[in-house]
Amino acid sequence: MDEPIQFVDLKKQYLSLKPEIDAAIQRVIDTTAFINGPDVSAFENAFARFCETKYCIGTGSGQSALELIFEALELQKGDEVIVPVNSYISTALAPSFVGAKVVFVDCDPASFNIDPKKIEKAITRKTKVIAVTHLYGQAAQMDAIMSIAKKHGLLVVEDAAQAHGARFKGKRVGNFGIACAYSFYPGKNLGCYGDGGAITTNNAVLAKKLRLLRYFGQTKKYIHTIKGHNSKLDTIQAAILNVKLPHVEQWSDRRLELARYYNETLKGLPLKTPAIDPNIKHVFHVYCIVTDKRDRLLQFLKDRNIFGNIHYPIPIHLQKAYRELKHKRGDFPIAEHLASRILSLPLYPELAFEEIDRIVEAIKEFYKDSRGSE
Ligand SMILES: *Cc1c(COP(=O)(O)O)cnc(C)c1O
Repeated sequence: MDEPIQFVDLKKQYLSLKPEIDAAIQRVIDTTAFINGPDVSAFENAFARFCETKYCIGTGSGQSALELIFEALELQKGDEVIVPVNSYISTALAPSFVGAKVVFVDCDPASFNIDPKKIEKAITRKTKVIAVTHLYGQAAQMDAIMSIAKKHGLLVVEDAAQAHGARFKGKRVGNFGIACAYSFYPGKNLGCYGDGGAITTNNAVLAKKLRLLRYFGQTKKYIHTIKGHNSKLDTIQAAILNVKLPHVEQWSDRRLELARYYNETLKGLPLKTPAIDPNIKHVFHVYCIVTDKRDRLLQFLKDRNIFGNIHYPIPIHLQKAYRELKHKRGDFPIAEHLASRILSLPLYPELAFEEIDRIVEAIKEFYKDSRGSE
């Protein structure tokens, strides 16, 4: 059997930077700067510059970044937050934890992102925030979303956990809404070696409040002006991120190049490849195709040592965690339709064109095969 092609291969990237990463970790240990060490503020400054935002606040995870943002916005119980139903569940969990009501909106079938045309119908007198995920690394339609927000006096919160460095009409994601959450979960486009996250914002007052909220509400040692959490970016993780950050732009370009190659070589097959919008810099966290024979294709590839994935198999409104909203199948038809047809193929900067050739050959074989054409 051929060598396995994993869905992501974190080892290859580590080996390409091993001496620098090992030295960075060792330096933190040697200086015992385990908590709030100099690597943390160095990373926050560098990441703010990368995101072209004024402020960056490191957090313990992407989920926690979202939670801190919604807490800082001081939503009241009963306030409504519009959330894309086609996202990772964190985008919904964060407003839920501050007592807000989550109001789901379906996605656009071409981009997989929240459909701006459906947002307005979901707005009520209680709506306060539109949460937007830049899913798979593709910026959402921010022109349309920002004009709806402006018209109705709503805040926008961005979830760029999958979209480090993505742009919409030249502008980096994270510069549209009041604040933006990032995750550095190991498999993300910028990943550390454990949990990590960050918030970016251009709002000085919010930035100050978020700094307090993530660290015990502490202005000075043992002086607590508000009730805060303990959710900070770990120094060892920040040290690793400092080594990786200078490579992210080049890694994104490589992801885009590989995605274009997939699109080109998959042409003519009975499946849908992702559209590449010229107004958007798509950073391809996930390369997702749409096929009616998804489950069989996934298995067919697995039998050939090629590992795909599904992002995500159950839309959030059908998760038990949200049963109190009493949604049923049929409420968000596009997301439901996609959930049984989407298939994420291996894509990471270290993937070789020859490996894509092997994946595409296998997919072609599948469609030629009787199991594929029945
Ligand atoms: C990964 C992810 C999160 C959660 O990030 P963690 O760091 O794992 O907590 C939130 N939102 C989206 C869209 C994600 O992909």
